[in-house]
Amino acid sequence: PDGSIMIPVVVNVLYKTTAQNISAAQIQSQIDVLNNDYNGLNSEFSTVPALFSSVKASVGVHFVLKSVVRKSTTVTTWSTNDAMKKSTSGGINPTTPDSVLNLWVVGAMSGGVIGYAQFPGGASATDGVVIAYDCFGNTGTATAPFGLGRTATHEIGHYLNLRHIWGDATCGDDLVGDTPLHNAANFGCPSYPHLSTCTGTPVEMTMNYMDYSDDACMYMFTAGQKTRMLATFVSGGGRYGF
Ligand code: ZN
Ligand code: CA
Repeated sequence: PDGSIMIPVVVNVLYKTTAQNISAAQIQSQIDVLNNDYNGLNSEFSTVPALFSSVKASVGVHFVLKSVVRKSTTVTTWSTNDAMKKSTSGGINPTTPDSVLNLWVVGAMSGGVIGYAQFPGGASATDGVVIAYDCFGNTGTATAPFGLGRTATHEIGHYLNLRHIWGDATCGDDLVGDTPLHNAANFGCPSYPHLSTCTGTPVEMTMNYMDYSDDACMYMFTAGQKTRMLATFVSGGGRYGF
């Protein structure tokens, strides 16, 4: 299915303040970032270190904004309990989640969480990705170091079955063969090369979207990650229907 996958996107905006009721331009900026990042069209793609140039990949998935749903709320801080996805708890129900990627934009989440995703295979009623309004898109209220729209790039990676590059464990397994072992999550903007102390002491791929580096310092997926994401679109893969 490479290059032919079109993902319709519905953006659900839950706002308490007028600033949180983000503009259409900011919403479109997020769609544009996704189309760049998932197709090797981001400006940094050509700066991927030579060590990784043979594995860097254009995923070939395209995102199309279908509609925006807006709702005023009295909630200041949400949690990761999916309340924002249910009208019965002040949220917005997803639009046809088996064939549409639903994004929820919220004011804030407890614990400093800036985004979270549901993996393939979960309940339809809660399927999609949640992002804080100051980490959404790359204009308007989007703020550094998460102001380039890469939180959605990362979370949609999870939505398409990618694990964190460090495998959520010390020198853990992300189930992708062409990503190196990482000791742990990297934050900020690591200098290159950053050596792992895991088996083989590989250079860590800190610029991968599935690390925790700042937005400006994450700018590639690998071929192995692409294979894993595209596998979700076949029958039985968990994202069949797009
Ligand atoms: Zn993550
Ligand atoms: Ca790996």
